[in-house]
Amino acid sequence: MRLLIAMMKHETNTFSPVRTDWQRFLDWGAYFGADARRAYEGTAMPMGAYLKLAREIGAEVATPVAAEAMPSGRVESAAYETMVNAILDGVRQGCDAAMLDLHGAMVAETTEDGEGTLLERIRAIAPDLPIAVTCDLHANLTDRMVRHSTALIGYKTYPHVDMAEAGEQVGRILLRALAGEIRPVMAWEHRPLLAQTLRMGTDDEPMRRLIAMARDEERRGLLAATVFGGFPLADMSDAGMSAITIADGDRNAAAAAARRLMDAAWERRQDFLYAHEPLDQALSRAAAATEGPVILLDHADNVGSGGTEDVMTVIRAVLAKGLRDVAVAAVCDPAAVQAMARAGVGATVTLKIGGKTDMPSIGLKGTPLEITGKVRTLTDGEWIVRGPMYTGVTVQMGPTAVLDTGAIQIVVVSRHHEPWDVGVFTSVGIDPASKRYLLLKSRIHYRAGFALLAKATITLDGEGVTTSDNSKLEFRHLRRPIFPLDRLNAPPEQD
Ligand SMILES: [Zn+2]
Repeated sequence: MRLLIAMMKHETNTFSPVRTDWQRFLDWGAYFGADARRAYEGTAMPMGAYLKLAREIGAEVATPVAAEAMPSGRVESAAYETMVNAILDGVRQGCDAAMLDLHGAMVAETTEDGEGTLLERIRAIAPDLPIAVTCDLHANLTDRMVRHSTALIGYKTYPHVDMAEAGEQVGRILLRALAGEIRPVMAWEHRPLLAQTLRMGTDDEPMRRLIAMARDEERRGLLAATVFGGFPLADMSDAGMSAITIADGDRNAAAAAARRLMDAAWERRQDFLYAHEPLDQALSRAAAATEGPVILLDHADNVGSGGTEDVMTVIRAVLAKGLRDVAVAAVCDPAAVQAMARAGVGATVTLKIGGKTDMPSIGLKGTPLEITGKVRTLTDGEWIVRGPMYTGVTVQMGPTAVLDTGAIQIVVVSRHHEPWDVGVFTSVGIDPASKRYLLLKSRIHYRAGFALLAKATITLDGEGVTTSDNSKLEFRHLRRPIFPLDRLNAPPEQD
């Protein structure tokens, strides 16, 4: 048996001004052939799970590519073709089945359905190839993705701490199908529902209930059941919530379960809306907190959803409010890091940090923050994740410095990185548990590494391309009508 195992991942925020060229994939991790296998073997990623399964059954393995970039704007066509062509070449060389580690919300310059187009092109070469696919919980599922795969599954957690489990589950379904033990059939459903990311945490309602329902469907006999929160910042026609189910031979059972899941989501649609609080009011609550660490979320500049990581609005407000003992992760500003490196550890510097990026899609101009502080730490920004999300993966934040004003310590990085693991602080000598406040440019993923430390969490409404304020976003490609942009009361007829 020869298995093709590959990864191609990007969550595309079509409002983000951050370029997604091939270099951005190289910055996070892009590998070909044996290097791809070496990079992900033993990791808690779907790709790691696929490799483990292949070893278990003694399969011959081809790993044409494993590439992921942190969320940002549309994937440039050269980068997209580099990954797709590597996979297609692998398919042409011959394989009995494919296991793919995808995201599900990739928009490329040439196609709004990055994953569906890849799968369609694979099937154009090998029409009957059995294909297993994992997608992120934030996938925007399309009919093309479903039509051109054999078994498709998503993560059941946000933060995503079950990536390997999802890979193993769908990989085993494919292997059992190849052995003739089962006959997977899929059904999927969506509703005109654009849920907000801040309301998709799987420890909270309404997602907790929906995920529990999906697990119930599996306990009652389905091979897999997935609820996708969707990615509302990818302006493409199919963006939004969906569900997909896999049954053994019984298409009606799969369809009925997918419908139950989406009916439940639609019923709770009001609960998928984020309630805004004025920034100053939220900061007053933070100032009144007596026990730390209190997590402060600069969620409108969430790096892990395409934020530029250099919007200074919330940091400026935190300073103005006089909060002290704050550690910030992170501001992306390579020039500021270089200036601090030139000055050296211990030097006092006055810098304009952040605010280097304009965001035409939301009419926001970058505004740097002039700040004076001591250069506390300089590192190469490399560390290995030990926490529950991306476990074992090496993080490359690029040259990194800590600027310490006395009141706040700002981790300044050269490459975009969402703070979901304490390593973002410990790698630069900051003990997050000892801080009064941790100001994170994150929305939900921070919980993977910080939930156990946090005494309280306060969301701060700043500015940026991951805003939860829909009135700031101009959707051009999204199917309409859709809730909540066009306040619908009943779902339109499903086709
Ligand atoms: Zn995600």
